[in-house]
Amino acid sequence: MRRVRTRLTLWYVFVLASVLLLSWVLTASFLFLQLRGQLDHYAIQDIETVEGLLYFDARGDLSVREDYHNHAASKQVIDRLFEVRSAQGGVLYRNERLDGQALGDKLLPGEGEGGYSARSVRLADGTPVRMVSRRHTLDGRPLVLRLGYSEEAILGRLREFGLASLLALPLIVALVGFGSYLLAKRALRPLEEMACRAEEITSERLSERLPIGGAGDEMDHLATVFNNLLARLEQSFEQLRRFTSDASHELRTPLASIRSVGEVALEKDGTRAEYRDTIGSMLEEVNRLTALVDNLLTIARADAGRIALHPAVFSAIGLAREAAGLLDILAEEKEQRITVRGDEALTLTGDRVFLRQALVNIIHNAVKHSPVGGAISVNVQGDPLGGVRLEVADNGPGIAPEHAERIFDRFYRVDQSRSRDGGGAGLGLSIAQWAVRMHGGRIQLITAPGEGCTFQMSLPPAMPTKN
Ligand code: ADP
Repeated sequence: MRRVRTRLTLWYVFVLASVLLLSWVLTASFLFLQLRGQLDHYAIQDIETVEGLLYFDARGDLSVREDYHNHAASKQVIDRLFEVRSAQGGVLYRNERLDGQALGDKLLPGEGEGGYSARSVRLADGTPVRMVSRRHTLDGRPLVLRLGYSEEAILGRLREFGLASLLALPLIVALVGFGSYLLAKRALRPLEEMACRAEEITSERLSERLPIGGAGDEMDHLATVFNNLLARLEQSFEQLRRFTSDASHELRTPLASIRSVGEVALEKDGTRAEYRDTIGSMLEEVNRLTALVDNLLTIARADAGRIALHPAVFSAIGLAREAAGLLDILAEEKEQRITVRGDEALTLTGDRVFLRQALVNIIHNAVKHSPVGGAISVNVQGDPLGGVRLEVADNGPGIAPEHAERIFDRFYRVDQSRSRDGGGAGLGLSIAQWAVRMHGGRIQLITAPGEGCTFQMSLPPAMPTKN
């Protein structure tokens, strides 16, 4: 936490310092260019003044008019740096301020032509000078006039500006750094509190939640997301706890039964027929255990998301016939008849094994709960959306409304005491529901109580793609 705060502050300070520096460079350049533009402007005005004062004396030397020093307009010329060259570059005149130094080096091609040209040069003593050149013809002789201003004043102004900024910059940066450190600390405080609370939440205290400030900001969003995660975790933990205790309970009953049957048989010598009976009922319990363990395994693997479906396209009515066929013997024992009807042309897309399992579980329930001699019908129809509906109807006792909601829950049985002879652990419908949901479909009980049961499996035309 402390590091995020420091990092935020450093980043802030870095960005601010860069912006300040950039704006300083831009301002300084602008200032410099503007001042220099002004110098050029003055130099041009001066050069025009001096032009009119030049003349060739009797010996042919270039001079500035006698009254140069008194001339009002040219008074300022004394302060400038002024030099005149011939078109070949030879020095024809140099004023006193130049003190014998050359103003700029040799002529550049085209210098001073077509108006004025300006450039920065250095005198021999190192003075930086802004120099303006202009071509001029005097008495038919071409001349190049050069007039310069020392740039020292401008550079001095820039230096002052730079120095002031240099003093102010660290102060501003330090102030802003301190401010942003406090701000970051304040902004991150709710996060720190959340972390403290989250640390206290263990698997035993999953019902606890993080506090929500109520400002509707990002922190609240984070806390809400975290709380939702906690709620889901709590639900999964609770489900797991219930599943484990229900599963152990279900496993204990047949094991206790095997044990008591065995103990009773061992107590006294029995006939061969009695032993066969004992072993038979033990095997019955073992079969029940095996079925239960198979179901538990399916559920555990489904929960872990480790079941891969192998989709295929197959006949819907073919699947219904196959499922009914698997239960024919059981139905015959109870003198029941399973009829399969429906559209022969309909096809299903999905994992045949799991869809068959779902259908078998539903038909098996119908067989178990219908009376002797009852009729079970399996109906296959298309639905308007291109999917398939498989309905299993029986004329058994039906399911009361208060149970209808919960029959798909794991280990839920309408009549707990009947499970011993019925053999179910309350997992059949939940496995069927899982299989149908994996195919993007749904399963529901659609009959009114007292009219037997009709379970409807609706499957879409295509399987949902996994994401
Ligand atoms: P089980 O494996 O014990 O049958 P299920 O999950 O398949 O468990 O079913 C849950 C409960 O729903 C059953 O215990 C039973 O009471 C009730 N049930 C399911 N199908 C029918 C039916 N066709 N008629 C009456 N009751 C049913």
